Amino acid sequence: MKIGVVGAGIIGSSIAYHLGKAGARVTVFDIGEPGNGVSSTSFACLNAFGQAEADLPFRLDAIKYHSVIARDVGSERNLHTTGTLRLASFGNAAEKLEQNAKALSQYGSQVEFISAAAAGRLEPSIRTESAAEVVFVPEEGWVNAGALCGALIDLSTRRFAVRYRRERVQALERLQSKARLRLTTGIEVFDSLVLAAGNDTNALLTSAGFMPLRLTAAPGPLVDLTCSLGSQGVRRAIYADKLHIRPGDHGGFLAGVVAAAGDGPEHERKEEERRSLISSASQWIMNFAEMGQRWAVGVRPMPADGRPMIGPIDEDRALYVAVMHGGITLGPLAGRLVAAEIVQENEASELGAYRPRRSIAQDADWREPTLSLDRSM
Ligand SMILES: Cc1cc2nc3c(=O)[nH]c(=O)nc-3n(C[C@H](O)[C@H](O)[C@H](O)COP(=O)(O)OP(=O)(O)OC[C@H]3O[C@@H](n4cnc5c(N)ncnc54)[C@H](O)[C@@H]3O)c2cc1C
Repeated sequence: MKIGVVGAGIIGSSIAYHLGKAGARVTVFDIGEPGNGVSSTSFACLNAFGQAEADLPFRLDAIKYHSVIARDVGSERNLHTTGTLRLASFGNAAEKLEQNAKALSQYGSQVEFISAAAAGRLEPSIRTESAAEVVFVPEEGWVNAGALCGALIDLSTRRFAVRYRRERVQALERLQSKARLRLTTGIEVFDSLVLAAGNDTNALLTSAGFMPLRLTAAPGPLVDLTCSLGSQGVRRAIYADKLHIRPGDHGGFLAGVVAAAGDGPEHERKEEERRSLISSASQWIMNFAEMGQRWAVGVRPMPADGRPMIGPIDEDRALYVAVMHGGITLGPLAGRLVAAEIVQENEASELGAYRPRRSIAQDADWREPTLSLDRSM
């Protein structure tokens, strides 16, 4: 069976790895190096906290699977399951924190309610005095997602029948039960094609005459803090009201903020987010104003209902889509399940709620009018 995978972000590289491991012949296409897309401009926290209850079992399994994949590909140094610390300073946020913590603990997660003083001992660089509620979730953490994509592709091409082609896919074409890719170098035909192209999913789907998925590109601000946070720094992923911060992948720290709501002009939203980050960070982090800052914007592929879209898109199952927000957490497990569905042709019950057909737009020019989801990661 000849399988093509478009995209080598966390989703495509994980799918390619698991397909290769299952014995399939695979060609992966990407415009750039593995992980060069959103997967490298992500907060990349491995989390279940605050997600819809229906998604918690899958999320928790996906977090656990990160340890398995890290061991399999020898990338343990990129995985940091040091827990997440979550602080809320005011009424509504504290209530929500408590509700989310209780929901997560019902699914077997060891959520700990701790005092502000105990949080201060865990993270001395954080001003915890104003916290009304603090929760510690030991099994969460973060991963250097760009490095994980590189490790997955590197091992796949060395050990399995997986080829990597640094080439842009210009368009897809349908051909009976096969899928065709149009490349600058000509046409390639595959028995099965997996579209793991993140924000470019709809451009490729519509190039083959498929209707677009209800999927939006949702920008989110991140800032690399290049200066150290004193001798202690931060050791965990920390969520404090609208702010989130963790150790950076290349030294320093990485911080983000909840994206500004509404559909106003982009420059106004960016400015609001920048001000929000600076004011939140100054409230929670000692010496924030003295740190060097390098701003970046990551663009999330965001399904309209917030839930992953994973599954075949056509009747004869030659074209398969895998696109989601929360992809860093979910990608490795999703990749294993997708590969099993394609190679063994058995339906994974875990993916039943995430089939893309639920979210096919009725109008070829579909656009999501506003983004109302809480984009805090
Ligand atoms: C600011 C921010 C914070 C986030 N925080 C978190 C978090 O804390 N936890 C979490 O789990 N998730 C988080 N996410 C979401 C997560 O980063 C994404 O869900 C995930 O990276 C998506 O991976 P992907 O492989 O689908 O996309 P990508 O990484 O973008 O990969 C798609 C690949 O397809 C390639 N491609 C596209 N079109 C073509 C073409 N025509 N031909 C060839 N190649 C093509 C691209 O080059 C790219 O490499 C965050 C996202 C952002 C932006």
